[in-house]
Amino acid sequence: MIRTEVIIVGGGPAGAACALRLKQKNVDCLVLDRSPFPRSKPCAGWITPGVFDLLQIQSEDYPHSLTRFESFKISLRGFKFHLPARQYAIRRIEFDAWLLHLADVTLIQHQAETIEKTSNGYRVDGQFEAKYLVGAGGTHCPVRRTCFSFEPADKSQGLILAKEEEFRYAFSDDRCHLWFFEEGLPGYSWYVPKAGGWVNVGIGASAAGLRARGKTLNEFWERYLKKLEKLGLVRGHPFSPSGYSYYLRSKTPTPSSGNAILVGDSLRLATKDMGEGIRAAIQSGLLAAESITSGKAYSLASIPRYSFPSLLGLRK
Ligand SMILES: Cc1cc2nc3c(=O)[nH]c(=O)nc-3n(C[C@H](O)[C@H](O)[C@H](O)COP(=O)(O)OP(=O)(O)OC[C@H]3O[C@@H](n4cnc5c(N)ncnc54)[C@H](O)[C@@H]3O)c2cc1C
Repeated sequence: MIRTEVIIVGGGPAGAACALRLKQKNVDCLVLDRSPFPRSKPCAGWITPGVFDLLQIQSEDYPHSLTRFESFKISLRGFKFHLPARQYAIRRIEFDAWLLHLADVTLIQHQAETIEKTSNGYRVDGQFEAKYLVGAGGTHCPVRRTCFSFEPADKSQGLILAKEEEFRYAFSDDRCHLWFFEEGLPGYSWYVPKAGGWVNVGIGASAAGLRARGKTLNEFWERYLKKLEKLGLVRGHPFSPSGYSYYLRSKTPTPSSGNAILVGDSLRLATKDMGEGIRAAIQSGLLAAESITSGKAYSLASIPRYSFPSLLGLRK
């Protein structure tokens, strides 16, 4: 049996940020992740400047490819405009492994399945024991499933279906493009060119909105690929996208139960307007660690619900 003070299930940005802060406060913890790192994660990799502030590092000190945008090219129901906004794009395969490495805690490749409550904490799969358990396993986190009981009656409420691909491409347009509600899509599509010759393209849409329109995400994806071709943004690429689902922030459920705490996508924290989840994952991970070390309540009140204030420069 491996015993520690805190077990973190999931080593994405939420789990890694939690581990980072626990380590800074000299609290023993270990991270269990089912994937070997570096691992890829379907994500556009767009981050707001506040992410670096939360991690207390300068963007210049980030050691991997970082793309800086000073504006976005936006199409909103066909109305086109430039939105000045300083934002960044990272590659998740690099960023997540870097953050976990920065945390410098024990990482064990293990898929957590069975969680038991013990007299003084939690036991995972009969192999790992701790006083605290942090659920950072993303959309289908086993900690959420086992230790919490707040599933909404309608499981598609706030559910976002997404499809994306990141690939090497000799792009000629280095601007970030976003198309909102194009051709009736209940969501948006993106083209994000990245440093080092990568492009990330994808679409995300409300599952309920698609159902109401009697459409599938695939139909919109096919149309989107034709648009990229027509605009000359991506030509001749043999697409092989990944699909993924996650939830936007809803009415805040209780984020902790006993000494079990949820962070990031397991708690459904992505912003309501843009589905930005990396920042909330990191912020919630840091807050959870601070709650564990200080004994103070874990509150989500400081985590932004919307991304647009940052896009408009009203907030970092
Ligand atoms: C297509 C797409 C595009 C997106 N674009 C953006 C964007 O541009 N900007 C942005 O801010 N957000 C974006 N998001 C949202 C963002 O990706 C998530 O909000 C963010 O990854 C949440 O981080 P997390 O650490 O909570 O979860 P994750 O990053 O999902 O990490 C969870 C980790 O838990 C591990 N795990 C899962 N189950 C188990 C288990 N049973 N045992 C052990 N380990 C387990 C997984 O292997 C994974 O490493 C996007 C999402 C999608 C789907």
